[in-house]
Parts: sequence; structure tokens; C-alpha cells
Amino acid sequence: MNDTEYKRMYHRLYRLFRRVTPLKKDCGVLCSRACCQGDDRTGMLLFPHEETDLQVIEKNGLRYAVCQGVCRREDRPLSCRIFPFFPAVDENGRVYAVIDERGRFVCPLVRQCDHVKFRPAFLRRVKKAGSLLAKDQECLVFLRTISGEIAETSALADQLKN
Ligand code: SF4
Ligand code: SF4
Repeated sequence: MNDTEYKRMYHRLYRLFRRVTPLKKDCGVLCSRACCQGDDRTGMLLFPHEETDLQVIEKNGLRYAVCQGVCRREDRPLSCRIFPFFPAVDENGRVYAVIDERGRFVCPLVRQCDHVKFRPAFLRRVKKAGSLLAKDQECLVFLRTISGEIAETSALADQLKN
């Protein structure tokens, strides 16, 4: 894909989450918007070739957008739009919307995910986003890498629970 095609793809992905959020109500009231309380050293993971007007930092070969806890809603990176879910890809290329266990310490929805009624439309959109991303080889590799990280974190969390 060239730059224009990536740009078009991210616009399409952003549109999926323009109005549809994880819950029917604003989940930010549950936690005082905990996932938006980052600083200059933490940030939201950017997907391959995703552009942003926010400050970008690099850690371990990955790019992160950092903000001061406020942004224009239409400027949110994809990670902010899909949090606390991620489009995981299995070895057969199937895409699933999985809860992002890496957000356990930030997000009450992750900690209580077994008891929360997430909007099916939101979960469908996360899956759809994954299917669109997976068409691009670089994004597919990225989805697989992050899926692996989430699976490892979930396994660790399960061990700690037992
Ligand atoms: S931390 Fe979780 S519950 Fe709080 S605003 Fe972010 S996604 Fe919603
Ligand atoms: S970019 Fe916006 S939505 Fe994302 S963490 Fe920052 S303030 Fe929150």
C-alpha cells in the first residue's frame, strides 16, 4: 500500500468508531477517563503507517502518540477508538475482538469484563477493523505481534487469579 492508500484506510477505520463506543453510556464517568491520563513517556500505540498530529515517541521499534489528556475527538488515534479491545488474529488468519489485558491496571472495563455488557456493534466494528487491517501484510504482522503480547498478558493474569 502507498501512503495515500494507508491514509484512506485509516480514515475508513476511524469512521467505524465515530459514534460507536464500548458501552451505550460514556464509560469515562466510571474512571474519570483513566485511559486519557497519560504523560510525555506513555502513549497510545500507533498502527503501521498511521499518522497523527499528536507528539510521537518510539519505544522498542513501536510508535506511540502522546497527549496531555485532551484531544479533538476526530483526531484520536485508532488505539484510543478501540480501547479496551484489540482485533486479535489467530494462526488461521481469523480476526477476533479481544479484551486488551494490557489495560487491566488502567481500565475498569478490563478488570470487570466478564460482567460488562459491551455493545455488540462496537465489537463487530473492532472485528471489522481487524479484517481491513489484515489485508495489508505489514498490518497483519503487527496484529499478530500485538495479539501475541495480549495472549501472554492474559495467560499471566489467569495464572495470578488461580
Ligand atoms: S479507562 Fe476504560 S472505562 Fe475508563 S474511559 Fe478508558 S475505556 Fe472507558
Ligand atoms: S489522544 Fe485523546 S482519546 Fe487518546 S488518550 Fe489522548 S486524550 Fe485520550
